[in-house]
Amino acid sequence: MSKPKIQPVPIKIHPRLTSGRFNNLRVGMVLLTQLVFFGVPWLQWNGRQAVHFNLAEHHFLIFGISLWPQDFIYLAALLVVSALGLFLWTTLAGRLWCGYSCPQTVYTQIMIWIERLVQGDHLARRKLDAAPMSAGKFFKKGATQLLMGAFSLWTGLTFVGYFTPIRELATLQVGPWDLFWTLFYAGFTWLLAGVLREKVCLHMCPYARFQGAMFDDHTLIISYDERRGEPRGKQQAKSENAVKGCVDCGICVQVCPTGIDIRNGLQYECIGCAACIDACDQVMDKLKSPRGLIRYTSAQALQGKPAPAKSLHRPRIAVYSCLLAGIIVASTTALALKKPFKVDVLRDRASLVEQSDDGMLQNRYNLRLINTTEQAQRYSVTVEGLPSIRMERPEQVFDVKPAHTETVVVRVQANPEHASRGAHPIHFVIRSLNDDVTVKEKSSFIGE
Ligand code: SF4
Ligand code: SF4
Repeated sequence: MSKPKIQPVPIKIHPRLTSGRFNNLRVGMVLLTQLVFFGVPWLQWNGRQAVHFNLAEHHFLIFGISLWPQDFIYLAALLVVSALGLFLWTTLAGRLWCGYSCPQTVYTQIMIWIERLVQGDHLARRKLDAAPMSAGKFFKKGATQLLMGAFSLWTGLTFVGYFTPIRELATLQVGPWDLFWTLFYAGFTWLLAGVLREKVCLHMCPYARFQGAMFDDHTLIISYDERRGEPRGKQQAKSENAVKGCVDCGICVQVCPTGIDIRNGLQYECIGCAACIDACDQVMDKLKSPRGLIRYTSAQALQGKPAPAKSLHRPRIAVYSCLLAGIIVASTTALALKKPFKVDVLRDRASLVEQSDDGMLQNRYNLRLINTTEQAQRYSVTVEGLPSIRMERPEQVFDVKPAHTETVVVRVQANPEHASRGAHPIHFVIRSLNDDVTVKEKSSFIGE
């Protein structure tokens, strides 16, 4: 990646509005991502919130899949898959994530829409910034902040709604901490997307800094075609050539949300939004010259080398893909085979070996029955491991409510003839009477 050239950056960037195919795609992505973000917490599944990360009870519910602390391996796998997916995507497609779906880009875009709605286009906004304070300026700036604040509040409420039942949150039937986090996240959104905007991408985002290491000669980049464009200048418009170069209109700079000039080469400040492509395509359309002076390309193609047909056959693509496929297959298989309940057995160490009325040795255990399903479950408990071992009561059945944990005390008996002094390995056999699934849990029986 070439060293960025220092250019004067205005205090506040007011990008010019563009239109075109990539702008349509960006708007589509904003709508799609926000539809998912704002809509999902309101969805219901089996009469409960479909996606609910209940931190207080260490219980995550995702469309009927119940995850407990023991299952956090799946969440870890999801994080690894997301990270590897981003590495793979960056190697293939450069900063496509930044330009179209990164929350910072999406929310900044929404804040700019609000600003444009109240204050007008980029020229009107610049004029308003430069004008002395007046009633009109105060009203426009105030209305902008009010709308941004309302949107940020809605964002904060939605985000917290993934962790606290959103219907209770929306009607304020929650505690002070939920309200605090709603305001905190709202303030965070307003600060990052409403105030700092592109400065987050330029100075705070670590991804922008290390993604250069993931780029190779075949990675998709947005670039100005210097060989076609130079020497730039007004004379290009009058040239007889069918393929015109850069007329130096500067529109690609005016539309750039980070205020850079793509003609200076690949720069880390470029978030890959493709606004400059749309802008330049429109200029070329007016000049009746082919589009593509600024375009999606690769370093390889820019050097005039033909793109190899097998550009996907690159070592790092193969490594990322294999790792990704391996983790996805392993975790989905494990999730599909996951038992619908779990049992923890704890021998009651406080009580010594007891003797029953009929002369049997007796140990006491605490059984934690964890129902990870969304239905009430019935479990029968038996024991095996010694010739005469048995439960104190032969038919021990326990009911556990949906997504609940029940701790029960059971007594196990064995004939002293078969349980000499010391610990004897035994197994509890717990069977779900609803699903006919059996779990065996190891423990020990202490003899005389
Ligand atoms: S929009 Fe195109 S023609 Fe205009 S300055 Fe940028 S690269 Fe040159
Ligand atoms: S240089 Fe082009 S693609 Fe990069 S941020 Fe600016 S407008 Fe977007």
